[in-house]
Amino acid sequence: MISTICRMCPQGCGLEVTLENGTPVSLKGSKDHPYSKGWLCPKGRAALDLFHSPHRLSSPLIRKEGELGSVEWEEALNFSAERLQRLRDLYGPQSLAIYQGEGIGHQEIKYYMKRFANVYGTPNFMGVGSICNAARTMADTITLGGVTKPDIANTHLLIIWGANPFASNEPFPPKEISQLKKRGGKLVVVDPRRTEVASKADVHLAIKPGRDEILILNMLHVILGEDLWDKEFTEKWVNGFRRFHETVVEDRYSPENGEALTGIPSDSVRQVARSYAKTKPACISMGNGLEHHSFGISTMRLLVIMKAIMGNLDVPGGDLFTPRPKLKDMTTPLPEPSIPPLGSEEFRLFCQWRKEARALSLPKAILEEEPYPIKGLIIAGGNPSLEWPNSSQTREALEKLEFLMVIDVVRSPDSQYADAILPACTFLERDEHQMNVYQNLHNITFRRRVVEPAHGLPDQMIWVKLAHKMGFGEYFPWQNCEEGIDHILSPLGVTYRDLVSKGGIYEYEKRRYKKYEDQGFPTPSGKVEIYSERLNRLGYDPSPIREDAHQKADESDQFPLHLTTGGNLLCYLHWQFRYIPKLRKMAPEPLFEIYPNTALQYGLSEGEMAEIQTKNGKIQLKAHLTDDIRPDTIHIPQGWEDACANELTPSDDTDPISGFPNLKSLRCSVRKI
Ligand code: SF4
Repeated sequence: MISTICRMCPQGCGLEVTLENGTPVSLKGSKDHPYSKGWLCPKGRAALDLFHSPHRLSSPLIRKEGELGSVEWEEALNFSAERLQRLRDLYGPQSLAIYQGEGIGHQEIKYYMKRFANVYGTPNFMGVGSICNAARTMADTITLGGVTKPDIANTHLLIIWGANPFASNEPFPPKEISQLKKRGGKLVVVDPRRTEVASKADVHLAIKPGRDEILILNMLHVILGEDLWDKEFTEKWVNGFRRFHETVVEDRYSPENGEALTGIPSDSVRQVARSYAKTKPACISMGNGLEHHSFGISTMRLLVIMKAIMGNLDVPGGDLFTPRPKLKDMTTPLPEPSIPPLGSEEFRLFCQWRKEARALSLPKAILEEEPYPIKGLIIAGGNPSLEWPNSSQTREALEKLEFLMVIDVVRSPDSQYADAILPACTFLERDEHQMNVYQNLHNITFRRRVVEPAHGLPDQMIWVKLAHKMGFGEYFPWQNCEEGIDHILSPLGVTYRDLVSKGGIYEYEKRRYKKYEDQGFPTPSGKVEIYSERLNRLGYDPSPIREDAHQKADESDQFPLHLTTGGNLLCYLHWQFRYIPKLRKMAPEPLFEIYPNTALQYGLSEGEMAEIQTKNGKIQLKAHLTDDIRPDTIHIPQGWEDACANELTPSDDTDPISGFPNLKSLRCSVRKI
């Protein structure tokens, strides 16, 4: 039996894999893992189905005379290196973009990719952080100087806002919620849908899509109007509170004035606001239901301010900072290229802070050659045409590329446009370290290879081999993942062997609370910033309150319903794993959710086909009638190739600071077909 950690999603739950004659035959959750404690979701339980899947790529493919055909690694690497060199010679290194998808995550493999981009000379490394999670961390960081996560195990009240943690990419084991309830804690969920977690809530606020900003202001109006905030903390640690207070207590922010916009009765708003303010400690989990709107950053900043002024920051049961350890930064062995990355003109804070390009600026750069032409792209573990807004534009861009390389475990939908496809092995066949700060753990955990690769190579080694073929070998001296891990962890004095001997769990520091009391908050003022110095310096509005927050949504007879897209299904991660029969059985076909009476108005019964249309496009899929959604709203989950929700989403409706797209507060029509 070998202990490792799952990578069917980024959470990294503990796994114990049993081998027979060198082949993995069964697995179970590891009770020793500090986060998952033996729990696995259906994807984790299906990890061996991925390992044994007949859909896995068994050899590289390259395109010759228009056709993709299998070749040996040597030929595929030579072909790819030659094509990459040609782009560099003809158009300059900035003409290559490198995209890291969710399939490979945000840690070790990304470091190799960033290093390759740096040595090649392109500023255009970009990742799935352009569309997921990074806006939340930006809102936290602008306001607090760091990222917080809720301390669910010790809290008395948890608000889950815009997240569906039992199904999403950032799940927490359902046990955490049942234990909260068992010890008398309260759960509040804010979501247009009655998700599984919302059905367990003491209060579910079924908000109209995109009205979170108003609801937060309404709650703050109650908290500030009724003198319920933590005065000692706020006086000492919050910058810009007096002005904020004066504005929020104005009558226009009352729950009564917000009711028509949010769809939430004012009594419920007052009750939840008081309950949150009077329960100590309390914490808030922010999901990506908050970041996929036109004003996600200012909305989330309001929620972050609410956490802060209640004195819940970095206290047991509150919202905790869990710092990362200082590791070796392998990403930039050479000076940064002087040419700016894509998106940095419009979204300078995003690009400065992430030290990368904005992925959603890529289609325009390919199609319109603005701000400069992009001719080549490497996609690793991602599928932009399904994941990014405005799918048809993305497809058009992929088709126009002079060279597209895809690195993946299976043939992803976008690999149909590729000139070269390199097979990566599964996570069971590679070594990799992982940090667990999003789970409030000061641990480095270890994804230990269970077997040697049956097909493909570890992603890290694909980049090393490609770099050698390109003549960059001196910058990629690592012969295997083990040596790379030793390099990255060297500042801690920890090695690959240490991780093995410690059972794959290394604790780099102990939990400390109220760390801000030592050195203040890592913001320009050293305090929680309602008024953001950083935003002000970069020419953005430094206040989180937008003057036109109360503006009515753009409603019309042509598009009478709210549309929210992109929810995850528990059995899949974005587009992945639909080819695993056990998981496919759980959600066999694309469905949109619609309230029964609303469906009746359109003459729709369960399972009947309808056409959903927005300003951006239309798709056809079957209706699922459920009273778990607001009557004025429909929802379409993400990742379906034959009914892609992103055919309906626009690429030009974005948050002005993060550049994140509006995927969750759109308008649509429904027509039975
Ligand atoms: S939540 Fe599921 S898919 Fe994600 S790491 Fe845990 S078991 Fe694996």
